[in-house]
Amino acid sequence: MAMAKMAMGASADIINMTWGQPDFDTPEHVKEAAVQAIMERKIGYTVSSGIPELREAVCDLYENLYGAVYAPSSEVLIVPGAKQGLMYVMQALLDPGDEVIVMEPCWLSYKDIIGLNGGIPVSLPAGNELKPSVELVEAAMSPRTKAILINNPINPSGYVYTRDELARLAELAEMNGCYLVSDEIYDRISFTEFVSLAEFQDIRERLIVVNGFSKSYAMTGWRVGYLLASSEVINAVSLIHQHSATCVSVPSQYAALAAANGPQDAVEEMTRAYRSRRDILVAGLRGSQFELVAPEGTFYAMLKIPELPEGFGGNSEYLLKEYGIASVNGAPYGDSVNTYVRLSFCCDEDLLDKAIARLTA
Ligand code: PLP
Repeated sequence: MAMAKMAMGASADIINMTWGQPDFDTPEHVKEAAVQAIMERKIGYTVSSGIPELREAVCDLYENLYGAVYAPSSEVLIVPGAKQGLMYVMQALLDPGDEVIVMEPCWLSYKDIIGLNGGIPVSLPAGNELKPSVELVEAAMSPRTKAILINNPINPSGYVYTRDELARLAELAEMNGCYLVSDEIYDRISFTEFVSLAEFQDIRERLIVVNGFSKSYAMTGWRVGYLLASSEVINAVSLIHQHSATCVSVPSQYAALAAANGPQDAVEEMTRAYRSRRDILVAGLRGSQFELVAPEGTFYAMLKIPELPEGFGGNSEYLLKEYGIASVNGAPYGDSVNTYVRLSFCCDEDLLDKAIARLTA
């Protein structure tokens, strides 16, 4: 490992590639909608399930993008972020000891969310090039399997499921009589064809879609997410939401409404920027000692650390101390990916060039 060996000191110039959120600003018209809501004194509680216009807008999004029809009055719930939505879903679905199948690399909150709700995560090792091991799901199913939980596109690998893989998962959920929970929070940040599980309308009774405004619209701090599911599931999660959060912050709901109904140029522009950064990173590290798994979506990529030298607590510590690059360890995303780190490209292209220069010097 030639380079860099920077022996980074306290004052070193660290390149931060840990961000889990867009480096872009929330679009102007979205911010204005929130200000307007406040000035119009839209400041009290709303109906717990979310203002009707926003529920309609979210259903329209899924119908326009994926041809999936959900009823605004009974099959959608506006929640304080996708993460809280997942928490509600697991709380509603799981009895103690129920199993939920996840595929590595999987977002690090999943196992804790399942565990906190009395469930047992059944984690399947990643396949070639960090592909989710759909072929291992059938054998992992048991009478205790309550759900298969997927993230598409995947944080941290940027993998986008193929239609065939989704069809197979739908078939397995049907066969086993379990739920399929699809976290599609990065759906719009895809550099290839993205297929939503919502397109498989014949499994709609066992499908729960989790999504939100955080990533696509650069709105992480606004805390607006949504769930699309059968009215039976929505009734169950609504009860939890109603007696815990009451409703999502009202100005945030109006901001999300403007995001969903307004011009979508900003979403497209941001995705174009992520794509260009992805290309820079992939081209820059090609042939280097660090193998990068090219992402097809999200703003993350997994980088393989060839061999961790003695004396480092983990791969990210190594990358930080030797190359001055802050990353996230692969281990929390699954044992099978513990030789990787996650790099985020929520940073400008100059910083990416600098990171590449350090990794290839
Ligand atoms: N799901 C995945 C896979 C994520 O990566 C994140 C955020 O990092 C979330 C959900 C949380 O989204 P929200 O901000 O809507 O809670």
